[in-house]
Amino acid sequence: MKGVSALQPSAKTGSRPDIRSVTLLGATGSIGASTVDLLKRERGRYRVEAVTANGNAGQLAQLARDVGARLAAVADPAAYRELKDLLAGSGIEAACGPESLVEAASRPADWVMAAITGAKGLEPTLAAVERGAIVALANKECMVCAGTLFMRRAAAAGATVLPVDSEHNALFQALGAGRREDVSRVILTASGGPFRTWTTDAMRAAKPEQALRHPNWVMGAKVTIDSATLMNKGLELIEAHHLFGLPSEMIDVLVHPQSVIHGMVEFRDGSVVAQLGSPDMRIPIAHCLAWPGRLDGPAARLDLAKLKTLSFEEPDTIRFPALALARQAMEQGGAAPTVLNAANEVAVGEFLCGKLGFTGIAALVESTLDRAERRGMTREPTTAAEALEIDHVSRSMASELLLEIAAKAS
Ligand code: MG
Repeated sequence: MKGVSALQPSAKTGSRPDIRSVTLLGATGSIGASTVDLLKRERGRYRVEAVTANGNAGQLAQLARDVGARLAAVADPAAYRELKDLLAGSGIEAACGPESLVEAASRPADWVMAAITGAKGLEPTLAAVERGAIVALANKECMVCAGTLFMRRAAAAGATVLPVDSEHNALFQALGAGRREDVSRVILTASGGPFRTWTTDAMRAAKPEQALRHPNWVMGAKVTIDSATLMNKGLELIEAHHLFGLPSEMIDVLVHPQSVIHGMVEFRDGSVVAQLGSPDMRIPIAHCLAWPGRLDGPAARLDLAKLKTLSFEEPDTIRFPALALARQAMEQGGAAPTVLNAANEVAVGEFLCGKLGFTGIAALVESTLDRAERRGMTREPTTAAEALEIDHVSRSMASELLLEIAAKAS
């Protein structure tokens, strides 16, 4: 993996070398909750420097006390008063505003969980990367919207980027079985989501509560909807492209409804090395937390005899056009993945609040990509500010196109 450097926690903190200091960006989401669960089981091995959230002061304050964090920061300034009151007497510092998330990421922790959802996670995550931390990357959007610059900065700073996304974590583990030059392709598995067997007509009428019912994984709303459209797998293609430096033709997607095999690496001699496990995010998170070691994970052990059957099928890009759109954007490169990601965030938001039909999500993304290209928005962002500017303009374009697409797709 690009940007991977040797692990030297003691050199960075001056603290006990056997205790790893950690910061959780996006601590109140589902990845944050799983990370906190592991940290509580491994008390004595980790010390928590900072925890951040968007605006849920109550949950963040509780969590900060539970893990004994030094700093708790909320992005939303309106949540500051409540956070400060709830932390009174605890000795835990409170902070607010988007800049406080960057400050939290900049503090000297050996290991940072980057789990802020969406493009707003980019700047705090880059702050952690730029001071050479070990960054467990759960935010795929920041890799999609600024992957080239992200990996370049990580390499320059000597940061270690560990993939938390279960598929990429699986590939990272499987890649350890051989030399990079001997890899012939990697395979990302996809559950197929709740609409795997649905017709396009049925999907057109799908309601948010149906799309939110993922068959295997319990996750946040954004990623669950992305799983239903297969845009999640599309974003993961782009993520794999940047993380592992692989071209499009070396990254395949395979639908595997049981979500037991998370990723596979095929080597040139025909060997295929896979990583398997129960669909529980605490497995890849535990791998990142203890890397390069291992810890005693609480996830259910895989019982293949009980499962009996694992099945596979080709992804259907006619019924799930988002996957094809993402691959196209990846191959096109430049600003296209940034536009794709921003338009998708808008589309998912509008679907969740009932303003856009399910099939309208991919349609809105496609129209936004077309409009961006027609307007000459093609240049790849070279700074975080440029990436966020493209993100911002793309969101406006998607919002402008919303009514037209919503009418067509209903
Ligand atoms: Mg995934």
